[in-house]
Amino acid sequence: SGPEEVSELDGAKRVSASSFKGGSLEVRNLGMAYGTLEVLKGVDLSVKPGSVTCVIGPSGSGKSTLLRCLNRLVEPKSGDVLLDGDSILFMKPERLRRRVGMVFQHFNLFPDHTALENVALSLRKIKGLPTAEAERLAMARLADAGLASRAHHRPGGLSGGQQQRVAIARALAMEPEVILFDEVTSALDPELVKGVLNLMADLGQRGMTMVVVTHEMGFARRVADQVVFMDEGRVVEAGPPDTIFDNPQSPRLKRFLAEVL
Ligand code: ADP
Ligand code: MG
Repeated sequence: SGPEEVSELDGAKRVSASSFKGGSLEVRNLGMAYGTLEVLKGVDLSVKPGSVTCVIGPSGSGKSTLLRCLNRLVEPKSGDVLLDGDSILFMKPERLRRRVGMVFQHFNLFPDHTALENVALSLRKIKGLPTAEAERLAMARLADAGLASRAHHRPGGLSGGQQQRVAIARALAMEPEVILFDEVTSALDPELVKGVLNLMADLGQRGMTMVVVTHEMGFARRVADQVVFMDEGRVVEAGPPDTIFDNPQSPRLKRFLAEVL
């Protein structure tokens, strides 16, 4: 195995032992529509501090819209979301997005900047840190993600898995209380998926609160504290992974699992 392969897999191992203080989320009767298309029809969800919630369900069931409501990339139409007990509807969106970070399927890195600069830029622009301090912290977060040796590479010189880990390092650098992940391994070549999932599993173990929309059922089973099955804008079933995967109740979840497992 070459050096490339090693660096894909060692992300989790190199993460420092420090732990996070994750926040809680309470989603209450959340409704959202695009025009006349009702996409969320009263979603309730409870996310405990430091827990990992995996959201599964068919395409178009509202998973991405739910995540987007949680940091108000889209505005809910009804209901509420409490972050550590406070309604997000009364928070400034910029402040909210620092507290609730998000990582996307496509990494959205700046192609002309190195990995280090990508992370440091956010620290300067969003946290207002001076350059030297931003770069020191950016280096630490890249090291957390097993990418210290890649800090001076541009995204084009990194594998997709490494780019996604830079995006996760950038999210971590904001010191969020919750991180939302929307199908972050779906665009990766299969051999690059594991390094990203290992890093995410490690963040979960270190106490980060995470809401993870994923097709990786193995990850959900292994890492999730809670699995939420959505269909047609509603939470159809939620529970611990053993219950959801081994003892599904609703016909819709049974059908979904039969298709994906
Ligand atoms: P999922 O992530 O589970 O695939 P989404 O939340 O992306 O589901 O989408 C839910 C529904 O909302 C789908 O019917 C989708 O076509 C629709 N939708 C998503 N984004 C938009 C948008 N920006 N404008 C209009 N309709 C949208
Ligand atoms: Mg989606």
